[in-house]
Amino acid sequence: MLSIALIAHDRKKDEMVNFVTAYEHVFEGHKLYATGTTGTRIMGNTKLDIHRFMSGPLGGDQQIGALVAKNEMDLIIFLRDPLMAQPHEPDIIALLRLCDVQGIPCATNIATAELLVRALDRGDFAWRELVHKYKPGIE
Ligand code: PGA
Repeated sequence: MLSIALIAHDRKKDEMVNFVTAYEHVFEGHKLYATGTTGTRIMGNTKLDIHRFMSGPLGGDQQIGALVAKNEMDLIIFLRDPLMAQPHEPDIIALLRLCDVQGIPCATNIATAELLVRALDRGDFAWRELVHKYKPGIE
């Protein structure tokens, strides 16, 4: 079971709901996290149980980033709105940077998200289970 974070900016939330609904059978085997509103929208449209953090602009991206920093998040689907300025742009950049620090797969558009979820379904991210098993304690 892997830990997966789902985040969608406002104009991408319908796309996220449709996407997660289509792959609900894949997501249901994993531990799911989301920023506040994204999580509420997904839970209202699927049977998935999601741990909701704060809304993105109020710090949700940073809460997810904290798990990435500890190498405890395995995959992120972050449907960003490339055409709208976000008040929490620094948080978004920080989250993406931490994904690169830890080498965490992070999709920022639906085409990449689809590839990652299919790979997840095939078991391509099973190596992350080993990361969890042998992860040294966080100092
Ligand atoms: P939200 O946060 O899911 O609470 O809307 C996502 C964002 O807009 O960053």
